[in-house]
Parts: sequence; C-alpha cells; structure tokens
Amino acid sequence: MKTFSWDISCYCDYKCEYCFFTEAGWDNMEKLHGKVKTPDAIDSAWRDVHGKYGPSRIKMTGGEPFSYPEFNEIVRRISRHHYVQITTNLSRVDGGAVKGMDPRKVTFNATYHPSKERIEDFKDKVMMLKKAGFICDVCYLAHPKQLREMVNYKRYLAQYGIIMSIVLYRGIFNGIRYPESYTIQEKINIEYAKMYTCKMESVTRSFKELECLVDVYRFADNEGPGTAGIKACSAGSSYASIALDGTVRRCGQTPDTLLGNLYEKNIVMREAPVACGRGTCGNDECSECNGYGMNNES
Ligand code: SF4
Ligand code: SF4
Repeated sequence: MKTFSWDISCYCDYKCEYCFFTEAGWDNMEKLHGKVKTPDAIDSAWRDVHGKYGPSRIKMTGGEPFSYPEFNEIVRRISRHHYVQITTNLSRVDGGAVKGMDPRKVTFNATYHPSKERIEDFKDKVMMLKKAGFICDVCYLAHPKQLREMVNYKRYLAQYGIIMSIVLYRGIFNGIRYPESYTIQEKINIEYAKMYTCKMESVTRSFKELECLVDVYRFADNEGPGTAGIKACSAGSSYASIALDGTVRRCGQTPDTLLGNLYEKNIVMREAPVACGRGTCGNDECSECNGYGMNNES
C-alpha cells in the first residue's frame, strides 16, 4: 500500500512561532497553494490514484486541514477509497466537524499546543473523538520554550488513557539549531517525558545512562553522511510527499525528484527503492518521511 503525505491547507488559526509555514511566510504558502479545489476535483484526483495504485494511506496535514473549505465532505469522499489520517491541532474539531466520517477509514493525529489552548479543553476533544470510535494519537512538540510543563501534560492526559508522544523540535530557535543544541538537562527532561507512563514514577536512570542518549539528538546535517544517502529508500516508490499545489515529490528533502501532480492526475511512482544520495536524514528511520521511506513496502 502506498503512503502519501499531503499538505492540503495553507491556513491555520494558531500560527505558532515554530511552524514551518510561519518560517516560510503564510502569504507565500497561500500563493503556492493557489485556488481552493472543490470536493469534486479532489475526489477525482484521488480516484485517479486509486485506479493506479489501489487503496492508499493519505496523511493529511497543512496548515490546519480542518480550515480547508468543505473539509468534512472531502474526507468523507476520499476515505471511501483510501485510508485517511488527519494531523490537526483540534481547534476546529467538534461533533459536527467529523460527522459522517468513518472511524474504520479515518484516524487523527492531534498535536497539543500549550500556548493556544487549555489542556482540559484539548483532552475533551480527544475524548469526544475516541467516544465516536476514532483512533486519535496525541503528540507534543519538545520546543525549547515548552519543555517545562511537558511531563505534567503527559501525566494529566494519561489519567484519561491518552498517551502523548514527544516529538523533537527540528529548526532554529534563538539562533541555534535543534535538536542538536538541547542541553543535557533538556535531554534528560525529554527522555523522562518520553518514557513517562502512569506507572513510571520510579524511573531511576542515572545521568550517565542518559548521556548515552545524546546520539539520538544528532542528525546527519552536522554529523556526517549517516545512512540515508547510502541505503535504498522507498520514498518515491511506496511513499511520496504532496505539496500545497499538488506537486508530488519523493520526499520533502528532495525537491528535484518530481513524480507528477495530484490535480493533473499524472503521478508516476518509481518501481523500486533506490538510494537518494543526499544523506540528510542521518538514521535508518529516516526523519524526513518518519520511517516510511526506509521500510519495505507493505
Ligand atoms: S498548529 Fe500546527 S499548522 Fe498550525 S501554526 Fe501551529 S504548527 Fe503550524
Ligand atoms: S533517505 Fe530521506 S531524504 Fe533520502 S529519499 Fe529517503 S526520505 Fe528522502
């Protein structure tokens, strides 16, 4: 089954300082996006993909996908033929927003942004989705400005059976590059939060053990070629990234590897994995495509 990561929306109510779109400029992203597509045009484009490759996994992201006009109808229609995962901040999610979506075909990946919403309100929305039968994963960005309360949020959500994953921040903050620049104390906090569950009060890892984890925070940009450019990668054959204007690329790190355009219905995936030669990912679980590229097609 193919996996497509698809930036559908160029808008978000939150405009977080650490968002890639904020860095790139929201106006620039809007220009790249161009005219809003109708549910008919989008459904037709994804039917074309179905005709070529069968049911696929579509990971919808943005911006905030729920800000896209007629989003509910778009999801209901494309999920008749594909499996859809929606990455969302939940700001626009209520019972009406997901009405008619099929929990067997649609799942959610919700990110909590502590400067924008109370944790209690976020939790209520996750619980609403779960009660409606949806899988809703939750994650939290370990941005240097929001590390302090991280474990408390995780502990709070765990009381309701919600497991919050911690995602490392990749980018520049205060002029220094992350995740390479987390301090040892920050790394300890992150590792503790990653491992924390309701039963983890007794975490007793020594400082020395935690120091061994420093390697987790190194990426090929600064630390040599890594394995990404050398090993065959199935980004391009079983995985692809779709930009706001519908342009399909092997992944976000390989702008020159064009595979067609979703809306022009001319996507051609490669037949087999090949090495990319870039070496920008730096580990076997390629960070660019969250591991899809490095895994065998399934
Ligand atoms: S909620 Fe997500 S999409 Fe919206 S501004 Fe923040 S990081 Fe970007
Ligand atoms: S190894 Fe990483 S950068 Fe290279 S093609 Fe695969 S996903 Fe893209």
